[in-house]
Order: sequence, then structure tokens, then C-alpha cells
Amino acid sequence: GALGGPEPGPQHRIRVCVRKRPLNPREAGLQDFDVVTVPCRGVVVVHEARQRLDLSRYLESQTFRFDHAFDESAPNELVYRHTAQPLVESIFRGGMATCFAYGQTGSGKTHTMVGDLSAQGQGCPKGIYTLAAQDVFCWLREPSYQQLELQVYGAFFEIYGGKVYDLLNWRNRLKVLEDGKQQIQVVGLQEEEVSCVEDVMKLIEMGNRCRTSGQTSANTHSSRSHAIFQIILRKRRKLHGKFSLIDLAGNERGADTGSADRRTRLEGAEINKSLLALKECIRALGRNKAHTPFRASKLTQVLRDSFIGENSCTCMIATISPGMRSCEHTLNTLRYANRVK
Ligand code: ADP
Ligand code: MG
Repeated sequence: GALGGPEPGPQHRIRVCVRKRPLNPREAGLQDFDVVTVPCRGVVVVHEARQRLDLSRYLESQTFRFDHAFDESAPNELVYRHTAQPLVESIFRGGMATCFAYGQTGSGKTHTMVGDLSAQGQGCPKGIYTLAAQDVFCWLREPSYQQLELQVYGAFFEIYGGKVYDLLNWRNRLKVLEDGKQQIQVVGLQEEEVSCVEDVMKLIEMGNRCRTSGQTSANTHSSRSHAIFQIILRKRRKLHGKFSLIDLAGNERGADTGSADRRTRLEGAEINKSLLALKECIRALGRNKAHTPFRASKLTQVLRDSFIGENSCTCMIATISPGMRSCEHTLNTLRYANRVK
């Protein structure tokens, strides 16, 4: 546990980590090659292929530093241990925690957060949603927390095109309201009481099915929506602490603003706006700023509670693809992650 030791300053409320996935068979088949290395703890190097005037290719490298960097050999458990796990206990002490997976579509956000749902069962990779829930039930049994008599609830919703949909209630469209005291409410959001990790896994499965049902292409849809899974602690129905775990929309979608299709353009603009607002809110959290620009997007609005106050902490997992063909997107992701701190 985090007993003793000095209280962390605001800059310690933010952890930024990078995770590189393995080159997949499809990429290998296209003769793509790995241009990303993780030479030591917290360091990521991108070797960019450039062409000289004489048309020979050379590699130019760019180095980035983060709190942690994971190469393709890191399993979800290891990533979890250095990202979300240290935040779990904070919600028992009344904190608000968030963990974001940020990156290009196909870079491993869902693999990291949700795990492999198609093959879930014994020995299959669990995602951070499930791993965090497991630890929540462990902490709940600690004598000092047991006496608080907390109840655990799960909520799961998505933001698509700036609108909020409940994933535990047939994609019911939800309104977000701000009251006179600047409290934000997602009106009617379904909260299911859970008493064991299996209950939580059922919710994740149900929500995920809901997320992709009736969509023409599951992948296109999930690349454009932010999925927010919340583990909520309540004491006699009153909010005690909350952990929000977020599988963000693909960051390359923010560039869809040049698309010929109007709807795609609008959705791209919305994603762009929310990811910029997210960056600003996290930066404000790390600098103890009086003003947090949470109103700039639906995403930051619904997470307002998590960006303000002494007890908020966050962690970002920037996921990157290893291939040369993804190089531009990878560099964009790393630059964004760099700016968050
Ligand atoms: P995203 O959610 O960012 O669009 P996914 O999580 O769906 O990306 O990952 C794309 C594919 O790559 C999936 O088939 C997934 O199983 C695989 N993948 C992603 N990350 C890893 C990893 N670290 N190790 C092994 N396979 C991975
Ligand atoms: Mg995904």
C-alpha cells in the first residue's frame, strides 16, 4: 500500500507511459519493418527512414523520454503494474483517478484496456479494465477499507460525434447537464452494482457488444468513439471515489477534417477538439492551475470531477505501432504524450 511517505506534488499526479506493440503478420507481409526501439527504461527511439538527394535511404532517429516505456514483449499485466495499478488505492482514499489509452487506430488501445474479448477465459490476456477491477476487490477486503462499508458499481458509456450513449442500456442517448454549482451530471447513466470481478467482466462484455452492435463496421465505429468504463465506490449511495478507464478514439481521426464526406468531417473535428481539450485539462491538473478548460469538449466535461481537486491523478498510455508506414502517426502520438506532462 501507499502508507507513509510525503504527499505527492501536482507534477506527480500525471504519469505518461508508452507501449509499443509487435509488428503483425499483415505488416510483415507488406514488407513493413520495425522502426521503434526501447533501448532503456522510459526511452523510445523512432528511426525515421529518409531519402537523400542521391536516393539512398538513411535513418534519422528521434528520442523521447517518458515515465515508462514498454516494448513489444511486455504483457498487459506489466503495463498495468506501472500505470493503472498505483492509482487503484487512491479511490479508496476518496480520490478520482483516470487512465487513458491514446494512439492511432490499430496501435493496441483496446488490447491494452479491454484485453482480448474474443478469446476471454482462462489464460487469455486480460485488459486493464479487468485487472483494475480485480485489485479493487482486493483492497475492499483490507480491514481499514472494509470498515468503510463501500459499495462498488460499474458504468460504461461512449462518446460518439460529441454525443453520449449508455453502453449498459441499449445505447440509450444521455444528456449531460451542469448545475448551478458547476457539478456535471450524466443524466440517467446506468450504474450496476458489482460484487466480484466476474460481475465486472460481464459488464465489460455486455458494454462491448452494445458498442459495436448494429454498426456497419465495428472497427470504424470504435475508432471514432471514446469508451469510458468507470469503477465507482459509494458509501451509503454517496460518491466516495471513482476510477475512469478510457479507450480513446483513434487520434488519426482528428485529421478527417479534410474528408469529402460531411459527417466524417464533423466527427473528425469533434475528435480533434476533444483530444486537444484532454491535453489541456491534464496539463492543468499537473500544474495545479486554477482554471481547467473542461467545457471545451464533451469528453472533458464528463470527466470534470477527475481533473480538479487535490485527490485527482491520471495516467496516459500512449500506444504506438512499430512499422515504418505508421511512422508519422507514431511521431504524432509521441509528441502529444510529451506535451501532456
Ligand atoms: P486499437 O484499439 O488501438 O485500434 P487494437 O487493440 O484493436 O488497436 O489492436 C489491433 C490489433 O493488434 C489487435 O488484433 C490486437 O490483438 C493486436 N495487438 C495490439 N497490441 C498488441 C500487443 N501488445 N501484443 C500483441 N498483439 C497486440
Ligand atoms: Mg480499439
